[in-house]
Amino acid sequence: MKVYSINSLLSKGKEIISNQVQISGWVRSFRSNRFIALNDGSCLANIQIVVDFENFDEKTINQISVASSIQVLGIVAESQGRGQEIEIQAEKIQILGTANPNEVQETILQPKRHTLEKLREQAHLRFRTNTFSAIMRVRHALSFAIHNYFNSQGFFHIHTPIITGSDAEGAGEMFHVTNFDLNTIPKDENGNVDYSQDFFGKQTNLTVSGQLEGEVATMGLGKIYTFGPTFRAENSNTSRHLAEFWMVEPEVAFFELEDDMNLAEDFLKKVIADVLEKCKEDLEFLNTRYEQEQKQKPQNERTEWNLIEKLKNITEKNFHRVSYTEAIEVLKDSKHNKKGKFKYPVENWGMDLQSEHERYLVEEHFDAPVILYDYPAEIKAFYMRLNDDNKTVRAMDVLFPGIGEIIGGSQREERLEVLKQKIKDFNIDEKELWWYLDTRKFGTVPHAGFGLGFERLVLFVTGMSNIRDVIPFPRTPKNAEF
Ligand code: ATP
Ligand code: MN
Repeated sequence: MKVYSINSLLSKGKEIISNQVQISGWVRSFRSNRFIALNDGSCLANIQIVVDFENFDEKTINQISVASSIQVLGIVAESQGRGQEIEIQAEKIQILGTANPNEVQETILQPKRHTLEKLREQAHLRFRTNTFSAIMRVRHALSFAIHNYFNSQGFFHIHTPIITGSDAEGAGEMFHVTNFDLNTIPKDENGNVDYSQDFFGKQTNLTVSGQLEGEVATMGLGKIYTFGPTFRAENSNTSRHLAEFWMVEPEVAFFELEDDMNLAEDFLKKVIADVLEKCKEDLEFLNTRYEQEQKQKPQNERTEWNLIEKLKNITEKNFHRVSYTEAIEVLKDSKHNKKGKFKYPVENWGMDLQSEHERYLVEEHFDAPVILYDYPAEIKAFYMRLNDDNKTVRAMDVLFPGIGEIIGGSQREERLEVLKQKIKDFNIDEKELWWYLDTRKFGTVPHAGFGLGFERLVLFVTGMSNIRDVIPFPRTPKNAEF
């Protein structure tokens, strides 16, 4: 007797007919007191267990119901039914956990179509559904593919801190970390919060990005990447923003912006190709889901490709590289703009692009992923390298169909004096960043990197439309259940 997961059993196929095996799982359905569809999460497919009820006591049979968990010992046999090569003739069934059918009725475990909203409300149970378990397996494969990609290219994985003492990046959007009793917060003589009495002796926050620490690590290790949680208290209730999300941030010494763009493009292509190869069954399933969803949309909102074609496209087509200035021209001259179809009309050079503009460029104009580069300095972060024109910086954003910005990156300002001036212009306290500035004093080098929002990638690859459906337990404004 050997213990198998359903995935390993099915991949052996006919090879193990007549073997005695043990498997465990959750009952998806039980037909005619004879056929159990069992799933253990190892793959999308269920295995069929055939029960000769004469051989089992009535109590056991009665306890087998949707959502209950069982362990089965049995003989692998050629399947009589369609769809599957093999099935298991049960010899022994042990009930691990029962599930009251009346209560199951009220949950998403009830085998019928449920809305994604309902799945979110029962996020603790949605791992048992086909859709969500497929997404989670793809998410895993993507995570693995990312580590694999960087590892094979000689990058070192660095764990940057989750609690940071610097609020240099996006101060307003940070969650504070404190162990003050919030009812009696110590104040100084001016009535301001006295952080010197707080746990770390200073004000601390949850990180919004591991970049600054990542840059510092690069200045000794050459090529690094981080893959960690990041937190943003931005109150944007969109289908592409989470308050807690995972970010992948490579950083490379001796890299300029063009190298950075090459890395981002190669990285996305390889990682997506990897998952297309490894997650065939789950992607086929998600593809069917995607096609059904498309059919329900009005004709003009449908995409011309199905999910798998869309992913293959990414791995095959070159990304368009367009400067911000060119993009503004394209947008300004577009019929869309002239007809007033943008919520934010495109008029002046210098404006920040909204996701409607990004999506127009990708989906309508270029019909391919786009890398926008050389943005106005004023709308980008202080650490981006200033161009000779003194008004644009060496920034780049990768824009994907249906998603908009999936990656944001830049070549970093390596010149101490220019950087100091930028820090001043941005009203940041230079003292806060003494350690960051040190790297520009002791053997500074050109370097570049980017940040990929991991969930935006999972969103794209699974063809889902709401970011809350691609992370196990989403954190969004007014929502931290589970
Ligand atoms: P956006 O304009 O879409 O809010 P951003 O410019 O704030 O993004 P960056 O600070 O450049 O984003 O972060 C790098 C990447 O992290 C983005 O390209 C995106 O993929 C992802 N990202 C940013 N904010 C969020 C969020 N709130 N939830 C999920 N992913 C995010
Ligand atoms: Mn943002």
